[in-house]
Amino acid sequence: MRLIDSHCHLQADRFDPDRDAVVDAARAAGLERILVPGWNAWSSEAAVELVARHPWMDAAVGVHPHDAAKVGDGEWGRIAALAADPRVVAIGETGLDYDRVFSPIPDQHANLRRNLALALELGKAAILHVRSPAGRRDAQDALLTELRTAGFGGAVTASGFGDRPAAVLHSFSGPVDFARAALDLGLAISISGLAFRKGEEPTAEVAAVVASDRLLVETDSPFLSPPGGPRGRNVPSAVEITARWVAERRDVPAADLGPELVAAYDLFAGRPGS
Ligand SMILES: [Zn+2]
Repeated sequence: MRLIDSHCHLQADRFDPDRDAVVDAARAAGLERILVPGWNAWSSEAAVELVARHPWMDAAVGVHPHDAAKVGDGEWGRIAALAADPRVVAIGETGLDYDRVFSPIPDQHANLRRNLALALELGKAAILHVRSPAGRRDAQDALLTELRTAGFGGAVTASGFGDRPAAVLHSFSGPVDFARAALDLGLAISISGLAFRKGEEPTAEVAAVVASDRLLVETDSPFLSPPGGPRGRNVPSAVEITARWVAERRDVPAADLGPELVAAYDLFAGRPGS
């Protein structure tokens, strides 16, 4: 099956012992693209260094909501400078996490705003993490407000991005109407092994309704191993489990979904025809 992993933290230290073997296994499993997002200055720089050795991979640089209060202006300056590198195709991951509040919520919003502004300035899509406590949706609703305020879904993204999505909801989590509101803003949606967890049942319906040019899949390795995937550390080759599940939800053969995923990824990353 042709596959992509739109979100894989291959630079994480949990891959230090065997990173090359993990990459080889991903290639053998059919992966044609991997996007390696950063979460702070160090991991953003490491993402660019890693993809420099693997030209079929792309990097993203940015600051995760968990790190919002830890990244100072100096580190942000390094990230913003690196963002212009052509190997960097997106900004993130960033977003809002009201569930595990590792940085205070006001800091998360300030961080999100500067990541979104950088994405709009460079015409590179924002990668968005969003989680609310179980049974709630306040972070999702706050994210939509921030996106609209920043100009997503309006003239700014229309002129800067054209047909490309200006952001992706990574590792989708939330109600179906939240997904629809994000799609109305032109966003892409990426589905991970989180979809299999209790409380994430709406993602099955979301997987069926996303237009094929807005649909991505990911592992979020080393996190979120899907059922049937590795115990403990997740790996990019396990994206096939999630991709096959998405194909079932869409009632299409997995072999037909694969090329659509590659095309949607290339549109998202701004590398059509590659
Ligand atoms: Zn991530």
